This record gives sequence, structure tokens and C-alpha cells, in this order.
Amino acid sequence: MNRQFIINFHGIGQPARPLEAGEERYWISVDAFERILDYIVDQDGETRANISITFDDGNISDFLIALPRLLNRKLTARFFIVAGRLELPNFLSSSEATELRRAGMTVGAHGFAHLDWRRASDDELEREIRGARDMIAEAVHEPIDEVAIPYGSYDRRVLRWLKRAGYKAIYTSDGGACLPHFRLKPRNCLRRDMDPSDIERILRSANLITDTLQGARLLLKQRRRPPFAALRTSTSTPRKSLVPEGDQIAGRRG
Ligand SMILES: [Zn+2]
Repeated sequence: MNRQFIINFHGIGQPARPLEAGEERYWISVDAFERILDYIVDQDGETRANISITFDDGNISDFLIALPRLLNRKLTARFFIVAGRLELPNFLSSSEATELRRAGMTVGAHGFAHLDWRRASDDELEREIRGARDMIAEAVHEPIDEVAIPYGSYDRRVLRWLKRAGYKAIYTSDGGACLPHFRLKPRNCLRRDMDPSDIERILRSANLITDTLQGARLLLKQRRRPPFAALRTSTSTPRKSLVPEGDQIAGRRG
């Protein structure tokens, strides 16, 4: 079965608003963005088909910078929007989100106020997970059934909420490759200090797992080194518990 590689972007270009702590490193230049898209387009058909692109946070750069460059290259992407930021300056408006949809892109939910859901109360989760989805669905005039978890921060309780809410696809920031029929989809978040060679490294390491799955299992069984070290050389797995904090090839932000 083909493994998929999901690349996650945040803002593109120069941010025109104050950023959250730690957010700046996830904004990349227009030039780096174009080079990464070109790298994807240059792959053979099968590899290209297995690479997906997502954007988190609903920055205005999704519409002004990313959309035309995706369309130029006949690429599609998913855009995960923060419901409480719709219409705010420097973020997408409802009509821009609708335009993304009309242009063939997928729109999903990214919460209401960009909270860490592991620390959210039940009332907050209700607004973040169900309320936000309904607001975005109303904004783009169609149902929303995909979600990206803010900061990639989740636990069993958060997953229970997401599944009860009926989301068909749940995007994390765990890094590595994913299998298409898994509802939980790990993504590789690009940082400003990365370039196409880093994507190549992600792809190559994920392929390595496919080729040497048996060997990797053997390594884990032998326990001659800690399992985390074995995983580090052969990328991460979709199981969050096996991947220690800060050990991903890419960043963790969502
Ligand atoms: Zn986010």
C-alpha cells in the first residue's frame, strides 16, 4: 500500500501581524515556498500523487500567495482555518475561504481560538471542535469533515472528542509518513530553515521504512539501542507515543 507524505505549511512571505511565541520559525519565504512546490511538481507521477499539502491557521497568505502558485502548478491543497479569526485583518475572510473551495482546494477546521486542546475544558472543546466546524461550514456553504489539531497537541480525550464529532480525517503534526486509510494523519511541518532537500530527506527516510520494515522491526526487538534511536534513523511512525518530543524530522506546530 502506498504511503503518503503530508507537508504542512503555515504563513508564507512577511507576516503583517504580531506572531505567537514560536510561530516565526514556521513562516517561510515566497521563494522557499515556490522552490518546494517546484520540487513536488518535479517528482515522478506516483511520488507526486503520494504527497499532500496542507496549510494551517488561515493566514491571508493562503489566499494571496499560496493559491495562485498552487493553481499555476496544477496542485491542490487543504487549508485548515481558525474559525474565530475569520474576517480578522491578515487572516482569511469567509469569501476568501469560499474562493479557495471554488478553486478546487479543501477547507477544514483548525479550532476556534487556536488553543492547546489538551489543556482545554469541555466547554472550550465544544466550541473548538464542534462550534468551529459549524462556523466554517457556514462560511464556505458546505459541510466540514476534516480537522487539523492546533500545535499538533492531542491526547486520548481530544481524539475521543474529534471522533465523536464525526471528523473523517484528523491531521496531526507528528511527522513521518501515513497510510491512506488511517483517520489520524501525521504531517511534516515545514520551518523557515528548511528547503527542498529537507523534503527529499523526509521522502527518502519514509521510503526507507517501506523497504526495510522487517529490518526495523528486528531492530526494535533486539533493543540493542533504545527504540527511539532506531526510529530516528528510519523516520517516525504514526503512533505518537513512540516519537519523543522534538525528535521529528520537521517541526511540530499545527
Ligand atoms: Zn495552527
